[in-house]
Amino acid sequence: MHLRPRVLVTGGAGFLGSHLCERLLADGSDVLCVDNFFTGAKDHIAPMLTHPHFEFMRHDVTFPLYVEMDQIYNLACPASPVHYQFDPVQTTKTSVHGAINLLGLAKRTKARIFQASTSEVYGDPEVHPQPEEYWGNVNPIGIRSCYDEGKRCAETLFFDYHRQHRLQIKVARIFNTYGPRMHPNDGRVVSNFIVQALRGENITLFGDGTQTRSFCYVDDMIEAFVRFMNSPADLTGPINLGNPKETTISELAEKVIRLTGSCSRIVFRDLPADDPRKRQPNIAKAKEHLDWAPSIELDDGLPRTIDYFRKLLTDRPHLCQ
Ligand code: NAD
Ligand code: UDP
Repeated sequence: MHLRPRVLVTGGAGFLGSHLCERLLADGSDVLCVDNFFTGAKDHIAPMLTHPHFEFMRHDVTFPLYVEMDQIYNLACPASPVHYQFDPVQTTKTSVHGAINLLGLAKRTKARIFQASTSEVYGDPEVHPQPEEYWGNVNPIGIRSCYDEGKRCAETLFFDYHRQHRLQIKVARIFNTYGPRMHPNDGRVVSNFIVQALRGENITLFGDGTQTRSFCYVDDMIEAFVRFMNSPADLTGPINLGNPKETTISELAEKVIRLTGSCSRIVFRDLPADDPRKRQPNIAKAKEHLDWAPSIELDDGLPRTIDYFRKLLTDRPHLCQ
């Protein structure tokens, strides 16, 4: 181990990745951020570029990467349905070829490797809330499958490399996370509703709004990533990370209207195919093994996110077109 741990963050110019890079630098790591800017942004990493222990490499993880590392956080993958359905074949390649390349790198360098998996591995769940033991209810041929099945296959690869090559793996199943630096146009519900409300546009509620999600603020999530990565080697996961407070999407719409003071109206649109009806993590394992639970509720996290988008709409309105 070097004086400073050498940490690779793939997808480091994205929403979660850029927050993670900042946290790792603050903790004293030497950070290599790798991204192909498919959904990431130079603005997210610009403040870090002058940091003596930060380095950026433009690279697509579907191609092999040869660097020397102690820890790898594999976050590269578009996360919003709009973005991952834009080029579904590339989405599966990013999850599967990306995992193979990074696991190969971990094997060669003996690095510990973290996988940003997802609650989508549970699909449209028949068990509620979802514990890690639940195998899921996933459509293998639908419009969400490129993401869901890609992430499931990546989990398979992580566990086979662990069994076959004794790799130290950390597989996190991340539930809906929100906060500053979400992409304003990525179609995810929190960013959509806030941007629509700030502009006084109609709030687009898909379906009847009774479907649920459980939203975790980004700072809570990054804390969990770091605790998990540095936990004992035998804690491989998969481990659920998210906020167990469940909210209907119509409650979220009303909250955003109230907190922005917007005069926007709610309009109803068709529910997209395979849209999960409910989602809530069981985080008993994270509580027990990482001594972690989210501390920032929607009423605290949403105003911080609204402030971010308010500033973005003022300073860089073209990014939100
Ligand atoms: P994001 O889209 O903001 O970030 C993903 C980053 O990966 C972007 O910077 C993008 O340019 C980069 N990327 C995509 N394909 C790449 C490739 N082939 N090579 C190199 N870089 C590539 O999304 P996010 O919300 O920050 O999500 C980060 C990770 O967490 C993803 O793996 C996602 O699946 C997972 N995740 C996120 C959530 C959430 O709610 N945010 C939930 C579950 C899982
Ligand atoms: N949603 C909505 N209006 C929007 C965007 C999303 O009602 O403008 C709904 C969507 O149908 C889903 C929920 O909000 O039921 C969460 O969607 P998101 O894309 O943020 O995440 P995911 O479905 O991947 O959890």
